[in-house]
Amino acid sequence: MKADIHPKYYPNARAVCSCGATWTTGSTLPEIRTDVCSTCHPYYTGEQRIVDTAGQVERFMKRLERRQSESARRELEMQIRREAEEAGRKARARGGSAEAASAEVYARYAKAGQG
Ligand SMILES: [Zn+2]
Repeated sequence: MKADIHPKYYPNARAVCSCGATWTTGSTLPEIRTDVCSTCHPYYTGEQRIVDTAGQVERFMKRLERRQSESARRELEMQIRREAEEAGRKARARGGSAEAASAEVYARYAKAGQG
């Protein structure tokens, strides 16, 4: 072995996993920190589990939820607008006030939204 070109070797380096498992190994680092190991990796456990160290899955689910509730709200708005227009058309056909009929639809949804 050539002198002064090799890093220090630790024959009893400590490996620590985020799952809590620890073991001893040989390494050029005195301590190794890891996110997954053979104790907790789905391949070894046979468990269907998403390894999510950076909270990526949670962030994605939050984003998805927000998008879904937004599109649901937009959908409801469209529906209310359609109904209000329809009510207005019918009222006008009967010779009544289209505006009053539309306002009635909006008021009904506003009340439902509070309850
Ligand atoms: Zn582990």
